[in-house]
Amino acid sequence: MNRKELIKQVGNERIRILFNAAEARIEIGDTTLAKSYIKRLKKISAHYKIKLGKEMKSRICKKCNALLIPGKTCSVRIVSAHRYVSYECNACKSQSHIFY
Ligand SMILES: [Zn+2]
Repeated sequence: MNRKELIKQVGNERIRILFNAAEARIEIGDTTLAKSYIKRLKKISAHYKIKLGKEMKSRICKKCNALLIPGKTCSVRIVSAHRYVSYECNACKSQSHIFY
């Protein structure tokens, strides 16, 4: 494995750890620290040019970096007429639409 690959691997690992840590924070109701984990995770992703997975991206609020967990930090609405799921962030009320 060369240096570049190693850096990417370490970056990926750190992103995963931060994401899990943020999830754990939400579980105990600490949204502030969860947000700072997400911010750090995004910085790592930008710095090492590591793309966040689709699944991970769809669970982060674009506006305020909150981790979106249905029933906890966001509300979910299925708009079947337009075939999308709408996630509304409870903190900043911004909506994201995931088409299916
Ligand atoms: Zn938000």
